Amino acid sequence: MTQIPVEHPRYESLMTREKIVEGVQTGITSKQGLIAQGRGETFDYLLGERTTATAAYAERAAVALLLLAQDPIISVNGNVAALVPDSIVALSDVTGAPLEINLFHRSEARMHKIIVHLKAHGASNVLGKKGDARLDLDHDRAIVDEEGIYSSDVVLVPLEDGDRCGTLVSMGKNVITIDLNPLSRTSLSSNVSIIDNITRAIPNMVQFAKEMKHNKTEELQSIVDSYNNDKVLSSAMYEMSETLKNMSIERGIEWI
Ligand code: ATP
Ligand code: MG
Repeated sequence: MTQIPVEHPRYESLMTREKIVEGVQTGITSKQGLIAQGRGETFDYLLGERTTATAAYAERAAVALLLLAQDPIISVNGNVAALVPDSIVALSDVTGAPLEINLFHRSEARMHKIIVHLKAHGASNVLGKKGDARLDLDHDRAIVDEEGIYSSDVVLVPLEDGDRCGTLVSMGKNVITIDLNPLSRTSLSSNVSIIDNITRAIPNMVQFAKEMKHNKTEELQSIVDSYNNDKVLSSAMYEMSETLKNMSIERGIEWI
């Protein structure tokens, strides 16, 4: 691993990058995953590399949906497995939503490596290997498990691609995404769009789930009913413009 001094202003971001590089080296993450991470970094920079109040609001609504679901599921790809293996397993445990591996660049070897990796981080049962059902898509991400994503009512798809997200929504599922770009097709088409880095969003959600787990059904339902996703998307863009303005002023550049 490259040595990164703790006082480096991009320390967290660079450490995250190292985890993705390690994921590629061990065969968990695809090379395309490196580039996806880069796009995420850009938006995170603009967001100030923090969880905004509206992102936390979306994370709470997402947890309420998962806790209310009959058949919740969490979709895991190579970037998720490399970045947040402990907390994704913890989220699965506390919400009762199983993990299912779904890869854009699917190979038996990568599936197997990710299952072994998640089990080493405490997962008991990982779906995705059967691949006995298909979504209406023309690439490998169409392949899902009948008992998992296919029949789920609420699905958390961190770092989804736009086509698949739209397909899941059109199947009538409640779709929760985590994507730092508020303008991606993914963020625009999902029911709950968490505009936050998965390295912060998943641990936050674990914490919320622990706190909300024993809430009454009506309390959870009222969080879901009062949730406004457009507010979350517009607020993310507003926060980015404000962060840019502040960074500009801090650096002595007049904001005109
Ligand atoms: P879409 O198909 O939804 O329009 P896209 O083509 O912009 O998306 P992809 O390349 O499919 O994007 O996926 C990468 C997306 O994941 C980017 O929008 C990026 O912001 C986001 N992303 C990457 N890394 C992270 C991360 N660590 N946390 C949250 N979001 C991330
Ligand atoms: Mg996307």
